[in-house]
Amino acid sequence: MENIQVMGVQGLPLIHKGDNGVAMICNRVPVQDGDILCIASTIYSKAKGYTKKLSSILPSERAERLGKLNGEDPRFVQAVLDASADIIIEHPFILSELAFGHIGVRAGVDQSNIEDGMVIFLPPDPMKAAEDVRAGIRALAHKDAGVIITDTCGRSFRRGQTGNAIGWSGFTAIRDFRGDTDLFGHVLKITEEAVVDEIAGFANFVMGESNNGVPAVIFRNCPAWTGHDNLYFRNDEDITKRVLKKEWC
Ligand code: GDP
Ligand code: MN
Ligand code: MN
Repeated sequence: MENIQVMGVQGLPLIHKGDNGVAMICNRVPVQDGDILCIASTIYSKAKGYTKKLSSILPSERAERLGKLNGEDPRFVQAVLDASADIIIEHPFILSELAFGHIGVRAGVDQSNIEDGMVIFLPPDPMKAAEDVRAGIRALAHKDAGVIITDTCGRSFRRGQTGNAIGWSGFTAIRDFRGDTDLFGHVLKITEEAVVDEIAGFANFVMGESNNGVPAVIFRNCPAWTGHDNLYFRNDEDITKRVLKKEWC
């Protein structure tokens, strides 16, 4: 088996609404069949115009209240509320569930890597976003590559942020080991590996967080896997969420 290669896509300009990010990437790196292209949600959203000027946002009473409580601009808080399908905690930071199932601090709304006074939203349908990018690669480069849309996320229990997959196309999110046997013949009963998050995590490491300017990373020679796409817990399975919402004490 060949070694896995990981390549940051260098030399991309600042991305603006209307840019064809897929073409820009394909012009810089010849994508191959079987490659996995990770794209930062930030540039996908900037290219699609999922951004807003803070000055255009009128905060609600709730946004004013939470802004005071958490020491944040109420207009930014309103952007977070607008991006949220459900608020899981309000303080010391807003933890939101988004319509597509992801749970994230401040609904994943960013104020970094964009001009002053602007916010960036996560793509509203990142699975469709990944599918569209994949179709774009097929049309432009005539290659069949997998795609992961990534975002840097905080996590419970451990310090530090890591990259997570918020959308993917070309493979399943989970590699299912259940029913497989270990080195001693024991049958694995619960092991489901979140492969898309593992790959997104390493892509995030290559991207960096600040001014690196590398919003896309290509993985080559990854072995294939099989499993399923149920990355998000169902409501009744999600103990952490239920405890935080005080549904289960
Ligand atoms: P997020 O994790 O999706 O929220 O994105 P980040 O803001 O952390 O950015 C990830 C990477 O993409 C970093 O290396 C940034 O410097 C880079 N980046 C962000 N926006 C742009 C852009 O418009 N053009 C380029 N070339 N790089 C960008
Ligand atoms: Mn982000
Ligand atoms: Mn990031």
